[in-house]
Amino acid sequence: MSIKPEFTSTQYTSTNAIKMRVRNDPSLLQNKTNKISIKGAEDSEDKTHSKLYSFHEIPEWQKDNEYIIKGYVKETNSFKRIFQSLFFLHNETVNIYTHFLPGILCFALISSVLEFSLFKKYTTTLTDYLMVNFFFAGAFTCFMMSATFHCIKAHSEKVSIFGNKLDYLGIVALIVSSLISLMFYGFYDDFKAFLVFGTITTAFGVTCTILSLKDRFRKREWRVKRAIMFVIFGLSAVIPLFYGLAKHGYKETCNKIGFNWVLLEGVFYITGAVLYGLRYPEKTCPGKYDFFLNSHQIFHCLVVAGATSHYIALINSYEYVHKTFF
Ligand SMILES: [Zn+2]
Repeated sequence: MSIKPEFTSTQYTSTNAIKMRVRNDPSLLQNKTNKISIKGAEDSEDKTHSKLYSFHEIPEWQKDNEYIIKGYVKETNSFKRIFQSLFFLHNETVNIYTHFLPGILCFALISSVLEFSLFKKYTTTLTDYLMVNFFFAGAFTCFMMSATFHCIKAHSEKVSIFGNKLDYLGIVALIVSSLISLMFYGFYDDFKAFLVFGTITTAFGVTCTILSLKDRFRKREWRVKRAIMFVIFGLSAVIPLFYGLAKHGYKETCNKIGFNWVLLEGVFYITGAVLYGLRYPEKTCPGKYDFFLNSHQIFHCLVVAGATSHYIALINSYEYVHKTFF
């Protein structure tokens, strides 16, 4: 299918043309009208900072999703222009803010954890604060690294690769902190099981970290494999879950870990990963979802929904432990 770019480079070309004319004939500068033209050219060049490009106009290294046709910030090689890109709409804007704002919220909750993020009980200990904060720290890392990546990815290939690695490490941080914090309460009366499953989770986390740091891992053809790897990592949680169900039964497991919230969390994450892997819905109508509602943006929102479900499960679990064992 041939897809024509909607944005052209005429604005940039006219700016350069005026500058070239002045360079070739400096007497033009003496003409008041031309001075205005030059000023206009400079203003016009400023506006090119917010100029957007089509998929076919960006360098090869920037190409990732061929179903997102327009709205690209072309390689800037300037952190100043990257910063400026935070203030106009382009095809990464929603990706940036859907994780930047929840990241700020997590930071606020970590800073004020003693007051707001935990419903205090007279049995609440420092370990409770550490565990809940551990989860918020993982979520904060994930959201902020993701927002940073989506912001700096248009700088240059080198910076984009670095940001991409940060993004994957953030996902690992969220999964590890989610699983370990919940297992701490789920296996409160079975420390040996907590140690075993905690070690398995840590081993998965280390493996995913090593893979995420490999350059091959971020290539376009690895998109589906990447999604599968993170889904398998997330699904490693079913091992302790089945162990808990076999040992304590459904009702007790529901009480211990807020099972229904954990299920909902799984549904959010898996749906997000599947849409991300399939590039749905933009694949059905290339160009229609360039700025809003494409698979990556939906994936981001579902990650936030999944983390929220996890927080509710974690608080349920914390309350159950304090009701039962103290
Ligand atoms: Zn993302």
